[in-house]
Amino acid sequence: MSNKKLIIIGAGIGGLSTGCYAQMNGFESEIFEMHTLPGGQCTAWKRGGFTFDGCIHHLAGCKPGYMLYDVWEELGALPTRKTVFPEDMCQVEDETGKRFNVYVDLERLRQHMLELAPKDASAINNYIKAAKTFENLDMLDTSLLDDAGFTKRFFKMTGILKLGMPMSKYAEKFTDPFLRKTFPTIQYDWTETPTFVHLNMIGNCCSKNYGVPAGGSLEFSRTIEQRYRKLGGAVNYGKRVEKILVENNEAVGIRLVDGTEHRSDLVISDAFGFSTIFGMLDGRYVDDKVKTQFAEPKDDMVMGIHVSFGLSGDLSKEPRAMVLFLEKPVKIADREHGKLDLELFGYDPTMAPTGKAVLKVLLNTSYVFWKELYKTPEKYQAQKQIVAQTVLDNLEKRFPGIKDQVEVSDVATPMTTERYTGIGEGYESHWGFFDTMRLLRGPPKTLPGLKSFFMVGSSAGGAGIPGCAAMGRNLVKKLCKQEGKPFEATKP
Ligand SMILES: Cc1cc2nc3c(=O)[nH]c(=O)nc-3n(C[C@H](O)[C@H](O)[C@H](O)COP(=O)(O)OP(=O)(O)OC[C@H]3O[C@@H](n4cnc5c(N)ncnc54)[C@H](O)[C@@H]3O)c2cc1C
Repeated sequence: MSNKKLIIIGAGIGGLSTGCYAQMNGFESEIFEMHTLPGGQCTAWKRGGFTFDGCIHHLAGCKPGYMLYDVWEELGALPTRKTVFPEDMCQVEDETGKRFNVYVDLERLRQHMLELAPKDASAINNYIKAAKTFENLDMLDTSLLDDAGFTKRFFKMTGILKLGMPMSKYAEKFTDPFLRKTFPTIQYDWTETPTFVHLNMIGNCCSKNYGVPAGGSLEFSRTIEQRYRKLGGAVNYGKRVEKILVENNEAVGIRLVDGTEHRSDLVISDAFGFSTIFGMLDGRYVDDKVKTQFAEPKDDMVMGIHVSFGLSGDLSKEPRAMVLFLEKPVKIADREHGKLDLELFGYDPTMAPTGKAVLKVLLNTSYVFWKELYKTPEKYQAQKQIVAQTVLDNLEKRFPGIKDQVEVSDVATPMTTERYTGIGEGYESHWGFFDTMRLLRGPPKTLPGLKSFFMVGSSAGGAGIPGCAAMGRNLVKKLCKQEGKPFEATKP
């Protein structure tokens, strides 16, 4: 058994996963988390009897037989938690109310698309055929492959390089104007997403490998935190790390904002990359590559505003998500929006009291816009109210009477995210094929010249929740190798 001690900064999925596997392999570990809850971005919050979810649309690895399913079992997250498999990915509605239902049953989807655009039969059949490639293949488990498996996967993936074009470009394969217009929006309205990312998702939704854990994202994170505790790990909440202590270019511990110091053999940060590298380490361990990747966070925050409503009405007959084209663009916060991206949680009755429902609208926004407003609390609060009211006004046509059904509303902005997760500003998405493969491989990150230090999580390149969990696992595997002992993964 190794006596090495790990200090982990942050109880996000990457931090919790690192802690669980560290405990499974005889390392001593301790997490320092500035918030009072586990999960970081993988979270939810209660308002009245409603649960407003901040994260999971799709969780990869819900099907036994997939490598990620084993990871969730090891982390105690599945199958203890019921998983829901909504029958659609989303429904796009244009200004006239015409609907494109993106069913996850690919045969049902084919029929529906053929009814919408019979002249596009050939393009539709090609699209469905491409989606079926992913019924038994999940790109997100790439990070769990060994070197030989990765090489095999890499060459397999080069075969789908031709599907790397953005959704907006792929849509040009359809001649029908309605399909052309709506298709680019069906993946969270991320019109520039490479088509294979979408195909991977819909193929895996069809095979029920991608689902949604019932009860919301916080409950999912909590189960992993409980597993960590049962494995003997300790989470210290309300403890913000100010500095990483370094001696002779080796990380030796942390100092908290309260001034206390804690020593360890290794320090692992799951916190926001910019804060870790330029705050906790004062920018001392950077080269050009690190600077390019981390020094200038981007202003644009994708899904940066969450406008949630707890409604007295029932939404169980509605799709799980919607993209609504508006009659005319509307200014919300810093920019004009021609569409609204909705999540409707009618598929999970645990999110609202019986007969009631949660509806959320996600909007991209500017970090700086909110940062400026936040300096004047009255202006910040007033802007949040305007955002909620504007969104509601624009939902009224599709959901007549919705204004009278609102029991609770909540607007979370980039300032909310920063307060609760330390994440300020976004990062450029790199959607090229090689960037995607590198992202999916997701090794834990090191910094030039600094020993006994690693970064895990989304800042270090972890792709979504599975990528962050896999990165924690890979890090402990690497540490075991360094210690010359076999890696062990146990199940509760
Ligand atoms: C709106 C939205 C929807 C998403 N949907 C999905 C989805 O459907 N499927 C999916 O797989 N992924 C999804 N993701 C991505 C997923 O949530 C993230 O990739 C993942 O949760 C990030 O985990 P992490 O390990 O990077 O830690 P983070 O979540 O970034 O957590 C970092 C933790 O570190 C703590 N911390 C920061 N600074 C300090 C400090 N100085 N001292 C102490 N603690 C500190 C924070 O409080 C936080 O708890 C979504 C993300 C968002 C924002």
